[in-house]
Amino acid sequence: MPLGHTVLVTLFAASLAAAAPAVPVPANLPRYDLRVTLDATAHVVELKQRTTWTNPTGRPTKQLVFNFYPHYRMPSEDRLLLAKTLELFRLSPSDAIDPKGRHGTVNEIALVRPGGEPVLLRWSYREDNSSALVVDLPNPVGPGETVTVDMDCTVRLPNKQGRWGHWRGVHFLTNSLPTLGFFDESGWHAMPFVPWHQPFWNEAGVYTMTAVQARGQKLACPAATRSERDLGDGRTEIVTEPFVGRDFALLWSDQFEEFKSAVTMPDGRTVTLRCLAFPQHAFYAKEMLRIAGDALPVYADWFGPYPYDQYTIVESYFGWNGNECAGLIMIDERVFDMSKIGGGYVEYLVSHETCHQWWYNLVGTNGYAETFMDEGPATYFSHRLLDQRRGKNNEMLEWPPVLPFSPPNIRRENYRFSALAGAIRRDDVPPAAGPLPQFGNIYGLFSGAYDRGSKVYGMIESRLGEAAFFDFVRGLVKKYSFRTLSAVALKRELETYTGKSWDDLFDKWVYSNGLTDWAIERVEIDGERERRYGPLLRRRRPTAGSHTVEVVLAQKREFDEPTTLGLKFAGDRGYSLRIPVGPTTATIRLPDHDATVEPLGGGRCRVRLTVPERPVEIAVDPDRVLLDANQADNVWPRRVRFTAAPLYNLATETSLTADYDRLNVNAGLWLYGPAYQDPWYTRSFMVGPRVGVYRPDYVQAGAYAAYRADYRDAVVGVDALFDHFPLPKTQVGLNVERRIGGPFFNQQGTEGDGGALRAMVYGRYIHRLSSSLYLHPMHYTEAYSAYSDNFLPTARDTAPNGVRPTRTWLNGLHHRLNLYTPYWDPETGAWVDLTYGVGTTRLNSRDVLANQVRAELAGARKLPDGLGYLSGVKVAARGVVQSGWPGQGEFFALGGSTSFRGFDLAERQGGFLWVVNAEARLPIFHDKRWNFLDNTTGVRNVSLAAFYDVGGVYANGDVVTNVAHAVGGGLRVDLAIFSFIERATMRFDVAKTVNAGSPVQFWYGLQHPF
Ligand SMILES: [Zn+2]
Repeated sequence: MPLGHTVLVTLFAASLAAAAPAVPVPANLPRYDLRVTLDATAHVVELKQRTTWTNPTGRPTKQLVFNFYPHYRMPSEDRLLLAKTLELFRLSPSDAIDPKGRHGTVNEIALVRPGGEPVLLRWSYREDNSSALVVDLPNPVGPGETVTVDMDCTVRLPNKQGRWGHWRGVHFLTNSLPTLGFFDESGWHAMPFVPWHQPFWNEAGVYTMTAVQARGQKLACPAATRSERDLGDGRTEIVTEPFVGRDFALLWSDQFEEFKSAVTMPDGRTVTLRCLAFPQHAFYAKEMLRIAGDALPVYADWFGPYPYDQYTIVESYFGWNGNECAGLIMIDERVFDMSKIGGGYVEYLVSHETCHQWWYNLVGTNGYAETFMDEGPATYFSHRLLDQRRGKNNEMLEWPPVLPFSPPNIRRENYRFSALAGAIRRDDVPPAAGPLPQFGNIYGLFSGAYDRGSKVYGMIESRLGEAAFFDFVRGLVKKYSFRTLSAVALKRELETYTGKSWDDLFDKWVYSNGLTDWAIERVEIDGERERRYGPLLRRRRPTAGSHTVEVVLAQKREFDEPTTLGLKFAGDRGYSLRIPVGPTTATIRLPDHDATVEPLGGGRCRVRLTVPERPVEIAVDPDRVLLDANQADNVWPRRVRFTAAPLYNLATETSLTADYDRLNVNAGLWLYGPAYQDPWYTRSFMVGPRVGVYRPDYVQAGAYAAYRADYRDAVVGVDALFDHFPLPKTQVGLNVERRIGGPFFNQQGTEGDGGALRAMVYGRYIHRLSSSLYLHPMHYTEAYSAYSDNFLPTARDTAPNGVRPTRTWLNGLHHRLNLYTPYWDPETGAWVDLTYGVGTTRLNSRDVLANQVRAELAGARKLPDGLGYLSGVKVAARGVVQSGWPGQGEFFALGGSTSFRGFDLAERQGGFLWVVNAEARLPIFHDKRWNFLDNTTGVRNVSLAAFYDVGGVYANGDVVTNVAHAVGGGLRVDLAIFSFIERATMRFDVAKTVNAGSPVQFWYGLQHPF
């Protein structure tokens, strides 16, 4: 689109108030005049929209192409992807997936002719894009010519979370108005709807609106209200001031309370800040106003004026956490409902969404193909703001000081980079630019467009220097205000600004997925080689006189990106001495410190210099500007984080709570609960002291002594997991555990063996990861070797010729596919688990060849929508067959919490077993907000389970006693941990075998039994 011949009109031209023009508005933007009737009872919006479009190009057209997203219907093949995306945000698919779609309908479109009768027009939807509305015009619209059409549309608002719909009394119509696609010399560009991100690419528009709604509803929209009047029929009419923006969002609820504040901008204007939220969410409503008020003036200082007199934050239900709109941001109800402890996260979120007022709204982007053009700067600048305000790596959780110890915290650097570090280890980082579907899923988009994209802006700042960078950015924003900026145009602007080519940076970091990986290989000071982790105890050396420092650097990945080597001396805050390093073919002599950089070949170089003091720290790329594949080896001495963990649990070792760029050493009282079963053996609930080392996506290992609840014994053990080793998608794990005491508290006749040992090692290939913090991957195949003495309690009831094996050593293969969605309380999906093992077993004091096979198939399904109460009912079924040879071996127990629930492990054992379970999960309470522990934990759903289990176990072909039938019931409580961080189902089951005299069994556990 040609730039430069802009006729400036002001944003507030239509307003009577003599407001200063905050931001110039290009002439001939599309104009949308709206008359909407918002019916919160019937959940319907009637929309009359007059669209005026002036052809900005030299190319005539006989069509208008709108994006009308409510006409979207999700292709059935996209269901699983979206369900898994919602699962990542800890939302049940049925809360947000609407299989029917087509909620927006066009009733009539007419061409407006000055002084003439309107002409009805024909329209259609594009075959390859069900939300691209094509309107055929009778005559072409030539360059600079204007056309006006009236549209009459209806949008039904489904009871679903998302961009259009209603949920718990909030109605939303966002990105839902028919909006002209982007038009340039190559024609119309209407982008397909992508439910899991912002595929939007359109010009800003000038919006006016007259809205009619029921009295008592509070409407959130970006424009200021010009007038409001009571229509006398229980409805009010609101007329808004003209608004220029990228979209026009409408959200309304009769439960909203309006919270207000104001902020003075650098140009002296006052911006009114509004937050429409539920009254019970006043804490975060006020906090978000504070955060927005802190951010807006800084951004205005960095980028140029904020274009409006008001800024609105609205609470809504859309599943992910924050969403930018023009002049307005939506924050999900689950963020408002979060614990006060999480204020650091809210600060980041609101700062990020607010930044989009410049990068998305003011400077438009092709959200479909160049998402990084707005997510990159929004991520980069919001972290830059918090770096200044909170320090570079602040803790995002604020635990109450009453606790006697510090629970795990989330440092902002870990929040920002741990996912990217994991993607790098998986060899799964896409380029920054690319069409949304090419990223595959939201993880890919985050690591490509957000993380890699934000690094691009950091590298631009580093190359230009701070002052020139902001000078450039301000000029850029000014030139592209209410226009759109492509990556090609950004590169061109950089080239114009600097007079140099920027091909290199864009080719490497925008369009390619390569990385750089600098490392400090060795450090010598005064000719003496230093240890990698430095002196164990800091040696006090005289610092008088000069020291020679020699550093060997290696660059191990695709891109030899130039950087600096920084040296820190005692008492320094930063790296006060810096040497430029980079690819070189000849020795470079630098003027200061007698420094030389000498190439060693193979991406390595040696830096020598003389300094007056002994350095205490040396780092390559000390400001972390580059996208470096492994940060841990960029520094000497290597960093280690020691943490005393009085309650050493699952949360101690996650990629968010541990540092991604170093080894974390934890020690404390360990609480372990298994959330999954493994084919070799399922680990027990354990409690006891543990020392562990952890680096996310590299290693997790430890040694422990523990009380083991399942076997009521004491054990010592070690475990280890080497992740992404030896290949990016493989891992290796092991566990060794030996009984040192017990079993304790045993009833007579159920003792196990004393001194028993078990050990296993596995190598796993991961086909697909799970987003859960506590579950195994979604899909994996593994080979294992497992040795076990017999930990099973001695059976009460066995076949006459059954033999209890004293030990078993199996080598096997295991495959698992877990498509349960969502994983904590599946509405859909299947579970397949297959194991085969071969080895030896000791029966009657003789080692004999043993084979074991196990097959499990399970599925769960929610009944379809539209059946009232029944729609919330889930049914699940499972079958398990297990067989071991020789046939007389008692390898398996018919009983247990996740098997045949009518017996315990000691009831019946044998060498062949089958179990079938059927279960109905009947909702009692749905979508509740019963929060406790300062909203860190909350009950969301409660259901009753009614089940029937049947199974038999056999020894040498003979059934042990009979085929057993059990019935039972249970309670399932779906818990949200930290609102949207994690979900889990707590389970309590009671079962009785109907055709045996065994006692009633009580079970509790995490997750559904199958
Ligand atoms: Zn964003």
